[in-house]
Parts: sequence; C-alpha cells; structure tokens
Amino acid sequence: MTGNVCACSRPCADAYLCRDCTTQLHGDLGTLAALLPELDAALTRQVGRGWGAGARSAERPLPYDTRVTPVHHATLNHLAYWLGRVAEAQGMVQPGPWNAAQAALDLQGLLGKARLLPDAQRLADDTHRHAKEVTRIVDLAPEQWYAGVCAADTDRGECGEHLYATAGSSTVKCRCGAEHDVEERRRWLAEAVQDHLGTAVEISRLCAVQFGEKVSTSAIRGYVHRGRVSVHGSRQGAALYRVGDVLEAARLATVSADEWRATKRAGRAAV
Ligand SMILES: [Zn+2]
Ligand SMILES: [Zn+2]
Repeated sequence: MTGNVCACSRPCADAYLCRDCTTQLHGDLGTLAALLPELDAALTRQVGRGWGAGARSAERPLPYDTRVTPVHHATLNHLAYWLGRVAEAQGMVQPGPWNAAQAALDLQGLLGKARLLPDAQRLADDTHRHAKEVTRIVDLAPEQWYAGVCAADTDRGECGEHLYATAGSSTVKCRCGAEHDVEERRRWLAEAVQDHLGTAVEISRLCAVQFGEKVSTSAIRGYVHRGRVSVHGSRQGAALYRVGDVLEAARLATVSADEWRATKRAGRAAV
C-alpha cells in the first residue's frame, strides 16, 4: 500500500495530515472559535488610543495593551490565508470578509479538504501556536486586569512596562521596582476612558474587567431607551456610546435601586 505519511509518522493515504492530527487541528480551531470573542473582550482593555480622542495624553502614556492587537490580527490573517488556500484548491469562491471566530468555524468545516493540501502540517502547527497564544491572553482575565503603563522615572527614562494587577491586591509592582497604588490606577484609567466611544458589548466588558462593575448590554440599551445615554455614531453597524455616560447612568441606576429598596424597607418598618 502506498500513500503519504504524516509528520507524526502515521500513514494518511492521499492526504497530508493523518486523522489524529486532523482531530487535534479540529480541536484547536474549536478553541479559537470559542476564545476569539473573549480576545475581543481583552481588546477592549486597550482603553487608550484605539478608542478615539479624549485622554490626557500629555500627562501620562495612555493605558494601552500593545500585546493583544498583534495576536488578534495574526490569528485572523492565519485563518483567512488558509481559508483562501482551501478555496483556491477547490475552485471555490473565496469567502469573507471574516469575523475571526467565524473564520475558525468555516475552516473547521473544511478540514476534509484542508488536509489534502501538501503543506497541511504547517496549517496544523500554526493553528496550534495561535490557539495556545490566544488561550494564554484570555486566561489572564479575570484574575488580572490591565493597569496601564508603569511610567515611573528610571535611569533609562520613563518605564514603558505594561502592568497587570491581581484582583484583590492593593498595589501592583513593576519589574523596574516601582510600586503603584491600585485604587489610584483604577481612578486614572476610569478618567482616561470617560470620553472614549465603544459598542454596548465593548463597554459592558470594559466595565466588568476594568472597573468590576456589572453593566449588561441590555442595561445599556435600557439607558438609551430612557434617554440617559445617547448614541455617538456607529462602527460596523453597531451603535457607539460614550463610556463616561454609561458609567454615570449605571451609577445612577444603582443609587436609585438602593433608594427604592431603602424606601421599601422604611415602608415595611413603618407598618
Ligand atoms: Zn499526524
Ligand atoms: Zn516600571
């Protein structure tokens, strides 16, 4: 019997990736499909430059996590490249434009064809690498939250290290030796994002991850409906809101819920 041999040395007939390696690849693509939306959430932790104007840029570097965007782009490029390769080999119309998670699912559905590509092993290896990297970043939350750039004065100038604070700890220590007060960092980040615009999903995640506040997307839509928050344009069809408006509306809603409960309690006590 003749046929190809997979890089793992199992036979794979006329394909270039054996059944076991294809199963592994299927799993890695499933991981990507599940975690890429979470990576989008990690992106919203980049509460600086990407979110429009308004922060006090001159005073301190903006809170901006430079590690997430390249990973997101590299993963999407990887998926788009291989979807294109499969489409080309099959004489299919190239699908797209993609949302990264959907691209992972599309590729998953085409693995029977993808394993016939002579360099299918590279697809498997690269996908595994991307899945590991995305998992690593997503796993950072919620135990850790992004606390901005250190910016301490050091012998070599201002420290550019990105800080990740552990949930529950009152200080965050940088590799340069500087120690920062967590509450002060939170206040600074909260101030820095006030004027930034985001979708309901982005702001909801931002509130949860960065400020430990639960503001659901339906709550945000509720604020809009009641005129507490207004729409500031849109991005890819999704309405954009000002972060500060949403935080303020959420705060007011919490206060009035507390008041309502207190009034009810007082009412009961009076009876
Ligand atoms: Zn194999
Ligand atoms: Zn530092």
